[in-house]
Amino acid sequence: MTEVADQFTEERAGEVTRISHWIDGQRVEGASGRSGPVYNPALGVQTGEVDFASVEEVDAAVQSAKRAFESWRTVSLSRRTELFFRIRQLVHDHAEDIARFLTLEHGKVLSDAKGEVARGLEVIEFCCGIPELLKGAFSEQASTGIDVYSIRQPLGVVAGITPFNFPAMVPMWMWAPAIACGNAFVLKPSEKDPSASVFTAELLKEAGLPDGVFNVVHGDKVAVDAVLEHPDIAAVSFVGSTPIARYVYETATAHGKRVQALGGAKNHMIVLPDADIDMAADAAVSAGYGSAGERCMAVSMLVAVGGAADELVGAIQERLPKVKVGSGLDPDSEMGPLVTREHRDKVASYIDRGREEGATVVADGRETAPDGGGFYLGVSLLDDVKPEMDVYKDEIFGPVLGVTRVDTYDEAVRLVNENPYGNGVAIFTRDGSVARQFQFDVKAGMVGVNVPIPVPVAYYSFGGWKSSLFGDLHVYGPEGIQFYTRGKVVTARWPDPATSKVDLGFPQTR
Ligand code: NAD
Repeated sequence: MTEVADQFTEERAGEVTRISHWIDGQRVEGASGRSGPVYNPALGVQTGEVDFASVEEVDAAVQSAKRAFESWRTVSLSRRTELFFRIRQLVHDHAEDIARFLTLEHGKVLSDAKGEVARGLEVIEFCCGIPELLKGAFSEQASTGIDVYSIRQPLGVVAGITPFNFPAMVPMWMWAPAIACGNAFVLKPSEKDPSASVFTAELLKEAGLPDGVFNVVHGDKVAVDAVLEHPDIAAVSFVGSTPIARYVYETATAHGKRVQALGGAKNHMIVLPDADIDMAADAAVSAGYGSAGERCMAVSMLVAVGGAADELVGAIQERLPKVKVGSGLDPDSEMGPLVTREHRDKVASYIDRGREEGATVVADGRETAPDGGGFYLGVSLLDDVKPEMDVYKDEIFGPVLGVTRVDTYDEAVRLVNENPYGNGVAIFTRDGSVARQFQFDVKAGMVGVNVPIPVPVAYYSFGGWKSSLFGDLHVYGPEGIQFYTRGKVVTARWPDPATSKVDLGFPQTR
């Protein structure tokens, strides 16, 4: 079981390890001849080479899942619950191992990686209550001698396609409810940090999950397209950028699948003049630069209302030099590198873009990035950002926080509501009635009141509005259970056959 865990010890960080698929309960080396590099972003060196699946390899995973589904769906709810308690324990016991994979391949600091695993674990814990979650309704005597009841059944083989920025938690959002509901699962994780998924597969096997119920195929567009078009996959969950989310939604629905496709974000944090400015500045720095800004719920745009702006920018500026940027394995580091060199360079290019567009560069992260080959960028702050600028419109997805200044609450809300994204949003104020009005007015799926990263707890569901979500149902929580099951309503009667007669009229209930 520890084979995969051993691959990425710090000492072996310079070696290139092959990362293979997981099909039918075992590691399967890719035969497509295509693969991609995996880096340790803190060192800037390649540590892995991940196999890219062909259409045939995706099909092998789907066929394994299809076979496994037939018996998995018959496993009783009490046995599924028992298994989920074992999974919960194993993930809990190996949380640090999983977190290390995240730090070594994604770059986020270990404490943040542990936080990611902990939030994923909460979804697994929610799924331990699957018998309660799958309960239907029962109406006795709906008509004379007739009872009506509803049940929810699994869909079959379902797939998840996940982004680089939460290599453990986002897959857990999907596979845990999908499997608990009785489906078999095929995961296509990000090719940038794929090891946590294979490690998870080993944990699930150790917990006693039957072979084929959880499969991992790595890859790029070829593997994704094979999933989207596969006739034996009933549903697809996707989390990633908006253009790919839209593509996944359109392609998979055209192939008859149920789809939830979560896209990108531009999350605003509105600071009203009555807010506690120190608290707001702490929140902005934490939510803007945590995980190097590579969170779909990161605050990327601060909206300073009225008199709040100068004091707020000053308070943030004061805090920036204290943010410790360095290797995620160093316990002193608060912010790690970005995931790849290309992404770091793209994020950094927005600093010049902002200046060219007329924003004020208050802090330039290129000047404070640690030396060496790691994909580092220090914290950057752009003031006087305007909605028409690219630095406002684009999801930068890095440690570049923008500040835009408006005069009124109404202007601030209009900015959020007119933005094409609608993932998370936060308001900082001491006025409860304004906060309540905000919750009513704002067009976004997840709202924080004095909470900068309002990721819902596991027993609610996660999802944005507008271009941040294509599809109807949010992930995990009650909507996750709904997504991974189909409803069925049974109408039953047990009449005396002697009373039977032909009646061609439409069935009446009264
Ligand atoms: P991405 O869209 O590039 O990749 C996501 C997945 O799609 C990966 O598995 C990738 O292999 C695959 N993919 C990439 N290009 C593809 C293509 N052309 N055709 C088919 N498949 C393709 O996203 P990313 O860079 O890995 O992740 C960052 C993005 O994810 C950000 O936009 C972020 O906001 C978003 N995100 C959103 C949420 C949310 O809940 N809304 C959560 C996390 C991340």
